[in-house]
Amino acid sequence: MIDIGSNLTSESFKNDLPEVIQRAKKQGVSAIIATGTSAESSINAQQLAANYPQYLYSTAGVHPHEADHYSDQTEKTLSELLASKGRKQIVAVGETGLDYYRNFSTQDNQIKAFESQIQLAKDAQLPLFLHEREAFKDFYSIIKAHCHSLTNKAVVHCFTGNQEALKAYLDLGLYIGITGWISDKKRGENLRQIIRYAPLERLMIETDAPYLTPQQKGIKELLPQHRRNEPCSLKFTAEKLAECLDINYQTLIEATTKTTCDFFNLDQVTNERGFEEKAS
Ligand SMILES: [Zn+2]
Repeated sequence: MIDIGSNLTSESFKNDLPEVIQRAKKQGVSAIIATGTSAESSINAQQLAANYPQYLYSTAGVHPHEADHYSDQTEKTLSELLASKGRKQIVAVGETGLDYYRNFSTQDNQIKAFESQIQLAKDAQLPLFLHEREAFKDFYSIIKAHCHSLTNKAVVHCFTGNQEALKAYLDLGLYIGITGWISDKKRGENLRQIIRYAPLERLMIETDAPYLTPQQKGIKELLPQHRRNEPCSLKFTAEKLAECLDINYQTLIEATTKTTCDFFNLDQVTNERGFEEKAS
C-alpha cells in the first residue's frame, strides 16, 4: 500500500525520520510520497526522496496557506526544481489549491498561486496534487477551466467535501485521496456515507501525517507519539475505507496500489499480494 501524501519535511519528523520510515515499512507501506508545501519544503522533500530511492517520492508545490508568499521568485524556484536532475523523485505538482476554511492567505493570492501551479504542471507534464477545503465553487470553476488542457491527471487529496462536490470532481475525471478523516467520529460521518459513490479505481489512500491520526482501536499502541500521525498508520485508513465500500481489505489495497502506480507513474510493479517489487 502506498501513502500518497505525508508531510515528512515537517518539523515534527526532524529527529527520527529513519525510524518513522522503518515503522512504515514494517506495517506494509511500500512507498510514500512526501508532500511539498512551500518552495523550501519542496526542495527538502526532493532531497529526502533521493535518499530513499524507489521508496520515497515527492511533490513540488506551495500550499494555499502559503499563497501570500508566492512570488515570481517562488514560481521560478519551483520551475527550476521541476526541470532539474532531481526531477526523477518529483511525481506531482502540489499541493496546491484553495483553502477558505482557514484563509491564512488572501483568496486572491490563493487563486493566483493555484493558477500558476496548474501551468507548471502542464509545462512539466506532471499530475496535480490538489487541496480544497470549503472552497468548492472557486476551486471547481478553476480546475474545470483547465482540465481539458491538462496533460496529466489530478487528485483532490484529503477529500472532505459533500456528495455534490464528490460527484462534480469525479465527473471532471479527478481522483480522490482519503485520509484518517474517514475515521473521525464526527467530522468523518458524511464522508463515510458518500464515499461508496466513488468508483474504486479513482480512490487512493494517504495519511497526511503528522496530521489526521485515524481514530480507531489499536492506533495508540502503534504510534510512539500519540499526537503525531505517521505513515505507518495507513492500514487503519485502508481498513475503514474498505469497510465503507463494503469490499475486502486486500482488494482495496491492490486496487489503490495499482491506481497510485499508474497515476504517479511510479517506478514499481505490483504483485498479486499488493506489495511492490522493483521493476527490473
Ligand atoms: Zn492538504
